[in-house]
Amino acid sequence: MSIETRRGFFGALGSLFKENRGPIRPPYASIAATFTECRSCEGMCVSACEESIIHRDEKGIPFLDFKTNGCSDCHKCMEACTSNVLNEPDRFIQGRARITTMMCMSHHDTICFACKDPCMENAIVFQGMFNPVIIPEKCTACGYCVAVCPNAAIEIVS
Ligand code: SF4
Ligand code: SF4
Ligand code: SF4
Repeated sequence: MSIETRRGFFGALGSLFKENRGPIRPPYASIAATFTECRSCEGMCVSACEESIIHRDEKGIPFLDFKTNGCSDCHKCMEACTSNVLNEPDRFIQGRARITTMMCMSHHDTICFACKDPCMENAIVFQGMFNPVIIPEKCTACGYCVAVCPNAAIEIVS
């Protein structure tokens, strides 16, 4: 089976196993944040984000999308937030990375290390040449591993 065929097969199959969880909010939000202030805000965090990962839903509530990039922990969204919703500089993204093994090519006998290098925390550990697993204690949920996965096998879940 070619790599392309494997991607298509496992992608279709794996989507059945993906978790359906809530959106991931920007970093630095307090544990009590309700994001109600965001509804009437102009969304300065969106334009401030150097990685362009902050988006807003139809109510104006910000969420992170890791399809193209991850979070550099640059604090620019917090500095841009005049509503004081993002106000805890040491509270990073509340989530964790998760590999859907059904979609991961390396879990199906195809060599792929695409997610390993972008992980600055060394939180993705391969067993020999295959079968990557994420070490929860090391993962910061920065999301840089998500976009590089050729089979969309990694997601950040809350
Ligand atoms: S810390 Fe920087 S990269 Fe991360 S969401 Fe905020 S502005 Fe974007
Ligand atoms: S989310 Fe960040 S820290 Fe966690 S596994 Fe992916 S790249 Fe590594
Ligand atoms: S990038 Fe990582 S998670 Fe994605 S297919 Fe390759 S080894 Fe699996």
